[in-house]
Amino acid sequence: MNAAYDAGRIALMLNELRLPTIGRLWPDFAERSDKESWQASRLLGALLEHELAERAKRRIERHRTESHLDPTKTLATFDFGVVPMVSKAHVMALATGDSWLEKGATILLFGPPGGGKSHLGSAIGHALIDAGYRVLFTRTGEIVQKLQVARQSLQLPSALAKLDRFDLIILDDLSYVRKDQAETSVLFELIAERYERKSLLITANQPFSGWNDVFPDPGMTVAAIDRLVHHSTIFELNVESYRRRKASDKQKERRRQLPTDNPNGATTMAS
Ligand code: ADP
Ligand code: MG
Repeated sequence: MNAAYDAGRIALMLNELRLPTIGRLWPDFAERSDKESWQASRLLGALLEHELAERAKRRIERHRTESHLDPTKTLATFDFGVVPMVSKAHVMALATGDSWLEKGATILLFGPPGGGKSHLGSAIGHALIDAGYRVLFTRTGEIVQKLQVARQSLQLPSALAKLDRFDLIILDDLSYVRKDQAETSVLFELIAERYERKSLLITANQPFSGWNDVFPDPGMTVAAIDRLVHHSTIFELNVESYRRRKASDKQKERRRQLPTDNPNGATTMAS
């Protein structure tokens, strides 16, 4: 019979090696292993697998926090039924990442306010985080301001380089950025810097024809669009505002339930 190893010393060593999951699990596992006469390799393998799985989970949680994604805007809460022009199968394929992220391709979501652009963009972002990628969601105006500050202190190249850690940057509401020479040329620099290397997902109320108000001059607008469309998927969510639609559905439902609301006393089916 071998003497047992000192449990306190094991705890210290696991702590030193930063293996908290094994630290938490090993006493129970070891007891079971002794009782059921596991092979030593089975005990070691089981503990290591748990440590790795927990580590992956913690990494994904960190990526979720750094992404600034709204936790409620996921594929699970997105109703594809209201946007028949958007292929769910196509979105699901993009949501796995892989080849389009590898070639630094772009997704462009266009449509009027309330059509679900930000929600769909966020949903793709969440799915990519689940798949192990790193994503940043930002209003375009906000990141433009930050890059502008970086440029004033001659830190633009390093600020752009820092953004390289993200496989995807979601630039929400690009067309709200207003033409201002200094401001929007950093937006162009961001687009040019990531071109064919790291992906962007852009949402905008205005399709390309309205982007002349965003970039300082037409030449830069053309150059930006050229890079963005080169490897891109475009979805046009040309639907009525989801909120307005929900509100009017609710109103119709109320009218159906309360026919006496109708001043004529007749029951009319809402169309
Ligand atoms: P946009 O960015 O195009 O202005 P949003 O994505 O912000 O629109 O959508 C407005 C609101 O309606 C949000 O609360 C969003 O979650 C909801 N919404 C829009 N489209 C859908 C959809 N297809 N399924 C579920 N919720 C939706
Ligand atoms: Mg939006």
